[in-house]
Order: sequence, then C-alpha cells, then structure tokens
Amino acid sequence: MPDIERKSTYQVMVGDVPVGGGAPIVVQSMTNTATSDVQATADQIEYLHKAGSEIVRITVNNKEAAEAVPYIREELEKRNCQVPIVGDFHYNGHKLIPGYPETAKALDKYRINPGNVGTRTRDENFCTIVEHAVKHEKPIRIGVNWGSIDQDLLAEKMDENNELEKPKSSKQVLLDTMVESATRSAELAEEVGQPSNRIIISCKMSHVQDMVHVYERVSEELDYPLHLGLTEAGMGMKGIVSSTSALSLLLQQGIGDTIRVSLTPEPGGDRAREVRVCQQILQSMGIRSFMPQVTACPGCGRTQSTYFMELAEDIQDYIKEMMPIWREMYPGVEEMNVAVMGCVVNGPGESRNANIGISLPGTFEEPAAPVYMDGEHHTTLRGDGIGERFKSILEDYVMNRYGKQEEKEMADS
Ligand code: SF4
Repeated sequence: MPDIERKSTYQVMVGDVPVGGGAPIVVQSMTNTATSDVQATADQIEYLHKAGSEIVRITVNNKEAAEAVPYIREELEKRNCQVPIVGDFHYNGHKLIPGYPETAKALDKYRINPGNVGTRTRDENFCTIVEHAVKHEKPIRIGVNWGSIDQDLLAEKMDENNELEKPKSSKQVLLDTMVESATRSAELAEEVGQPSNRIIISCKMSHVQDMVHVYERVSEELDYPLHLGLTEAGMGMKGIVSSTSALSLLLQQGIGDTIRVSLTPEPGGDRAREVRVCQQILQSMGIRSFMPQVTACPGCGRTQSTYFMELAEDIQDYIKEMMPIWREMYPGVEEMNVAVMGCVVNGPGESRNANIGISLPGTFEEPAAPVYMDGEHHTTLRGDGIGERFKSILEDYVMNRYGKQEEKEMADS
C-alpha cells in the first residue's frame, strides 16, 4: 500500500500524547455529561478512553464545571486512567481559567473559539486565556467554527469584498474569514508568548466540500498541527458517511494530525461510537491499525445461504471479545486480516490475500470450506461445526503468528 506523505507540522504535546510532527494521527472524543457531575464525567472519560479515545474533551462552561475539573482528574488518577483532558471554553474562559487556577493546571489543553470570546473585548479576552496557557505551559486549540464565526471579522471581510471590482460570493468570503480567523488568532497567541509548538488549529464546518477547502488552505498557510472534524455531522449513517468523506479527502492529502467525528448519538446511544468510527477511518485508509479486520463478501445470487454472513458476524464478535486479551499477549494482531467469503468466485482469492480466510460453499457447490493461511491452502472443513472449528484454527494462528517465542514453545511442548 503506498504511504501517504504527511504535511510537516510542529509537534504539540497534549499531556503525554504527541500531536503532529509525524506522530500517529490521534483519535479524540468529547463527553456529553454535565462536567459538574464528577462521577458521571469520570465514568464517561474512562469509557471513551477504554474504547480508544487518546484525548478526551470536556466542556467547562460555568463555575460548577470549573470547580469539578480537579476532582475529575483526581478520580481518573485513582482509576489509573491516564488520558489527557481538554477544557472546552466558550464566552467565559477568560474568567474561568484565571478564576480557577487548579482547573487551569489540571487540564492538558484549552480549546478557545475565537468567535466566542466576547465582542468589544474579544482580543483582550482571548489574550487573557493565552496568557494563562503560557503561564501554565499548556497547549491551546484555536477552534474556529463556522456556526460561531467572529462576526466583527466577517463584517470587516464583507466590507473589503464590497470594495472589490469583482466581489466574491458571500460564501467565499465566509470561507476566507474562517482561514483569516485561524491565522490572526494564531499570530495573536504567539505575540502573547504562546510558543508555536503549543498551538493546534481547527476550522470546523458542516459541509464536506467547505471543510475540505478551508483545511487545504489552512494547511497550505500554517504549520500548526490540525484537528480535523466535520461539525454537526448529524445522526447515524448521514453523520458517519459525511465525516468519513470529509476526513478521508483530507487525510489522503496528508492533512490532519488529530481527528474527531462529531456524531449525534441516538437517545441512550453509545457515545464511544464516534471513537470507533475514527479508528475505522484510519484503519480503512491503512494509516493506523486498531483491530483485526474481517473482509466479507456482500453475498449474491450464487449463495442463497445466510451462513457466511452469520459466520462473518460471529467471527467479528469473537475478535472483539478476544481483543482485550490478544492486544496484551499478541502485539501486532490488530493488523490481521480475516476473510469470510460466500462462494468459489472470489472466496479462495480473497482468503489467500488475507492472513487467514475461509471460503464457504455457494449453492450447488461441493459442501466444503477451504481455509487459507498466509496465502496457502491449510485445510478444508466439511460437515457440522465449521464455525467453531474455524475459530479454533484462528486462535492457533493468532498465537503462532503474533505470540512471543517462549509462548509458542510452551504451546508446542
Ligand atoms: S464471493 Fe461468491 S457469493 Fe460472495 S459476492 Fe462474490 S460471487 Fe457472490
């Protein structure tokens, strides 16, 4: 698989997680609990972290939330949950950060939205937050969002545009303003004393093409690491497909150092879904590996049986169940590819291309399921219990391929 050449950026340390500067692209997420509820927020941070979120953001929106942050940190330490926590500030960060120094210390990064730091005293408020980031040696994310774009700057850009002989469309002016807001804010942060390697930028929009356009420009103009995300991506399939499209188009160009997928969860839905979507995007693109992948064919008229679909699902569930153990015992197993195929047309070929694969018989084919390992025919399963026997072969394969030498010898003796 050809490597994607990453855009060179500064490396920013968020807690002990490096972002940019060639570090692996970081998966992050955000809680939706009331931050003032210490237990609920610590529970969700721990849950998201266990699901694979390498940085977790929490809202710090009022004094109760600000007061809770050090206790959340303490609670996470008790649980040995070592994940950087980012404080999301809007409107009152210039008061909360100076007013709660223990909170300012407990957080690993401050997110500032330059459109939401006030109007008359916007620059002053922005600088106050940055001064405290400098004082506490914390990185900041300048998070521009088109839903809360700096209205003064937008008005200024619109006025400039009206003076032009051939004015641009108002949409184009908005896109220009997104880039300008990020650029000006980063310059201002550096003037206050924030080092270049403690600034991350995001420019979130809710339409795929707009987002791609803005990030391409920001990446061209600035060397800060970029946090990618499609804002307000929406629910279910729409949110997943839109986010995947936007992120993939940028990641393929080497743009982006940390990603978040902002899915609207269904009521009672699983918050960690956004983490798994991020991981799947990175893994599908061959950028990072988190979990063995199961390749399965979609099925067609050549097989009327649903057995291969059930087996593919069963194997997927089995891998998920085994991964907490396999991850510890078998480093590299997350790169494994398993094929579960429905008939002789593509079955043997796909199975040979996977680390391990099984090709089930289609309708009217001989009732035999050849199993392939590392491109070679290993055995052919017939009769009952094919699924269970394949799982056992898979387990042996994992141990032999990814296990430590001494474990293999113990198993052989
Ligand atoms: S492998 Fe066979 S059953 Fe599966 S989609 Fe291809 S032709 Fe159809």
